[in-house]
Amino acid sequence: MLNSMDRESSLPGTNLTQTKALNRRAVFDAVRRNGPITRMELAQMIGLTVQAISNIASELEMAGLIRQQGKRVGQRGQPAVELSLDAEGGYTIGLSLAYRRVSGVLVDLAGNVIASESRDLVEREPRLIAEALGSLANRLLKTSGIAREKIWGIGCSVPGTVENGTFWYDKVQEADEWSKFPLVAKLEELTGIKAFVENDATVAAIGEGLYGVGRVARSFFYLHFNLGIGGGLIIDGHPYRGAFGGAGEIGHMIVKPGGRLCPCGSRGCLEQYVSLYAAAETICGPTRTPDEVPTEELVACSRSGDARLSAWQQEAGQYLRIAIRNVEAMFDPDTIVIGGGLPTELLDGLIAATTPLLPSMTHRHSSSRPRLMPAEHAAEMPALGAAALPIAIAMLPASSSASWRATATKTPMATNPALAALGFDSVWQ
Ligand SMILES: [Zn+2]
Repeated sequence: MLNSMDRESSLPGTNLTQTKALNRRAVFDAVRRNGPITRMELAQMIGLTVQAISNIASELEMAGLIRQQGKRVGQRGQPAVELSLDAEGGYTIGLSLAYRRVSGVLVDLAGNVIASESRDLVEREPRLIAEALGSLANRLLKTSGIAREKIWGIGCSVPGTVENGTFWYDKVQEADEWSKFPLVAKLEELTGIKAFVENDATVAAIGEGLYGVGRVARSFFYLHFNLGIGGGLIIDGHPYRGAFGGAGEIGHMIVKPGGRLCPCGSRGCLEQYVSLYAAAETICGPTRTPDEVPTEELVACSRSGDARLSAWQQEAGQYLRIAIRNVEAMFDPDTIVIGGGLPTELLDGLIAATTPLLPSMTHRHSSSRPRLMPAEHAAEMPALGAAALPIAIAMLPASSSASWRATATKTPMATNPALAALGFDSVWQ
């Protein structure tokens, strides 16, 4: 069966309604990324006539998605009207399920945070955790005073690989329960809002793509340091998740053949050496497991120059150099972005241990951008990135977003006129 993208490219012009919706999305996205911008500039950027842009702009203005900002003066002829994103044209909710903690934000279309909340998580069962996430979303709605029908969707970041609305928790002993739990359907049932669930590293990459480094880098790899280590890929401005949602899983890149056994079944995976877990393993002693070591203790050890931690940093740095070089060889990105929840003291030491980076092919092009860049919004991720998820998915070509948009839930959703203007039939169909 052909998907809608194949139809669009093989039979151009046969589906006028769809073409109109795609043009509206293109104009909305261009204004969102580049506004304030004139109709003439939009016409050149998108490849439509100025008249067509004017018609589409009026429709988007009526839907409350863009607005006239003012007039650009100082040029010859009539001053041109500038168009900008109407940040209040819609809102999204971002939820983050992290190790023993949940957090959430409600943001407008420009990513301004209207309400936020986070709390420690004592619940361990998937059903109870889903309920904690659902009530967090409902509380954010109540606190913000934003009407449910103004919400485009809920993005939820999880520490694992997502497939068909369930996910593989990255702590393998908990995988079985989670891999059978329909998190997307449950969140939709609890909130009545369309939900999307995605791996935390991909979500953080999407957030940086929309609100941070993405403004200067079209293609980048996001290294997400946490209890483990993950990666997210932005290629030509769009997230890439692979055939089964596992693209960018750098934690399981083998950096030492025959090395330490990893729960994934391989030996010598990067995560076994470069992660908060691996750092904690060096100081936990025989009476605790690494995840029982408080992060504060690791920071204190790092500050006091603990020899065990320094040795870990040196070894981890060498494996990280190999991983960085492999990512560059594979994707030739504009840059590699470093973020996540690793305390600054540990991260700085780790980055220092990778210096100098292994030789690269960068001499072949004239990029002046550094090979490694810190994330601009590391502290707000992944909740902010999760909030960016519904917007990023709305802007993707239909064939790329299908795996996110497919849903089994029968929950009636709140309709949304702004989404309808972008061709989503008001409930993302
Ligand atoms: Zn592994």
